[in-house]
Amino acid sequence: MEELPNANLMHTESPPPGNFIRQIVEDDLQSGKHTTVVTRFPPEPNGYLHIGHAKSIWLNFSLARAFGGVCHLRMDDTNPLKEDAEYVEAIKRDVHWLGFDWGAKEYHAADYFQEFYDCAVQLIKLGKAYVCDLSAEEVREYRGTLTEPGRLSPWRDRPVEENLELLSRMKNGDFEDGSRTVRAKIDMASPNINLRDPAIYRIRKVHHHRAGDAWCIYPMYDYAHCISDSIEGITHSICTLEFENHRPLYDWFLDTLERPVHPQQIEFSKLKLQYTMLGKRKLREMVSDGLVDGWDDPRMPTIAGLRRRGYTPEAIRALCEKVGVTKSEVWTELSYLSECQRDDLNVKAHRVMGVLRPLKVVITNYPEGQIEELDAAYFPDDVGLPGSRKVPFGREIFIEQDDFMEDPPKKYFRLQPGGEVRLRRAYIIKCQEVIKNDAGAVVEVRCTYDSDTKSGGSGEHRKVKGTIHWVEATTSVLAEVRLYEELFTVEQPDNIKDGDYRDFLNPNSRVVLPDARLEQSLAQSKVSQRFQFERQGYFIKDLDSTAEKPVFHRIVPLKDGWAKELKKQ
Ligand code: ATP
Ligand code: MG
Repeated sequence: MEELPNANLMHTESPPPGNFIRQIVEDDLQSGKHTTVVTRFPPEPNGYLHIGHAKSIWLNFSLARAFGGVCHLRMDDTNPLKEDAEYVEAIKRDVHWLGFDWGAKEYHAADYFQEFYDCAVQLIKLGKAYVCDLSAEEVREYRGTLTEPGRLSPWRDRPVEENLELLSRMKNGDFEDGSRTVRAKIDMASPNINLRDPAIYRIRKVHHHRAGDAWCIYPMYDYAHCISDSIEGITHSICTLEFENHRPLYDWFLDTLERPVHPQQIEFSKLKLQYTMLGKRKLREMVSDGLVDGWDDPRMPTIAGLRRRGYTPEAIRALCEKVGVTKSEVWTELSYLSECQRDDLNVKAHRVMGVLRPLKVVITNYPEGQIEELDAAYFPDDVGLPGSRKVPFGREIFIEQDDFMEDPPKKYFRLQPGGEVRLRRAYIIKCQEVIKNDAGAVVEVRCTYDSDTKSGGSGEHRKVKGTIHWVEATTSVLAEVRLYEELFTVEQPDNIKDGDYRDFLNPNSRVVLPDARLEQSLAQSKVSQRFQFERQGYFIKDLDSTAEKPVFHRIVPLKDGWAKELKKQ
């Protein structure tokens, strides 16, 4: 994919994140607890990555980089049912696109299956684990509640030899799914329910996309995760807050197994974005049920969707930095993301003119058949970057339908009967006549122009209140433009309690404008190239474009207004 020069990279990547986790790492290096930093990003390959994952990726990779360490990419692929090789490839593509590289440090938790098993044998020999024959329902019953302690499983004191034999037979497929589990022997009266003899293995006679049919038992997350971290020599195991209550278990496994490497688990709060639903399970459902066009639908909060929409990795990293790393649960306003995106594209995207909903204007005193070429800089003075192109001007132009009003309210400074307006980079025109169709709709406006008022003319500085954009009709490029709003109409879609999230989908999340008109220079544009269409926002040329008709997505408008409008309704 073609990228414009990356002028903002230094800004977003330096200095590295300042936050409480960085402080812990710094202290550990200073005290000599560690001499190097090893972090990991451990996605479960059961869906595409979303912007929440981007935060974790950014945090783990940039922390390691800040201290000259490394960050591993670990596929947390211990769960055989939900995973798919397609997701593994998508995850790698997305991490790279975000600007991070794991080098040779790609790992798969499934490659540690034997080691997990050996650890279970060790726990059994230590008298710290047992094979339990209670059914899932009985286990739940025995577990107790927040206010009542649990009860001991009748299988808790099984002899070591018997446990070892049963474990081996479980592995080999002698028992049915769900008939037995291996459980850690910890404390059924612990106030922390996670410590009430949690399961470490369950029977699942299913194929695994990496390990094949070698295993009939699969390890539980809490058990596998800490051992994986230890195997890889992770120093700081960063995860999100819902694992805070699991930390004692993380530590118990590693202490009990006397692992030489005992990483420190540190939790931070998840990124949550207003009007945006994260959570791979629901996103997967939206894709499979056809509520969106796919994982890379430009309305999706997936990295693939954000990329297709035209967001830049620089903007996403800048958002992570701006939101910061804390332990408090906040819903981040979407305007944070759009502001980061505008900041980035402001210094990268050429300013061009495109009319999204065209209205024809005929300039009656402009010579028929004449086209003149006006110089137009690609960047405004305050950005100060070089480059310009020629923009044709002629007798017939298009303006936006809403830049004309026949019967305008006060303070409407755009075109109106008898009124004047400046055409951006060109002349002042005056509306002389309005032409309507049989249904009474305005189909054409006839104007005259003041030939002294273009750049360099004696009337260059003549003041009129409004300036509008336009494109010359005969040279313009017909294009499809897609505008987007958020997918959901509620601020916290992950928190929807009453009813289904489907009831809160925004019917206007995508608006297709099939006959937009763009200035001539855009005929040469390439897929993935980004522009600012003046007054309309930042756009990207999409891969749906054909030779006859380009397709552009709006990445962000120039101002945020949508959520505020919605609140007023
Ligand atoms: P989801 O809830 O979307 O299904 P997950 O946590 O189950 O996400 P994993 O693949 O297990 O997805 O997550 C990989 C890593 O990304 C984990 O370390 C997880 O804590 C982190 N992560 C997931 N969602 C967020 C988020 N919203 N903000 C920050 N980190 C996140
Ligand atoms: Mg998960």
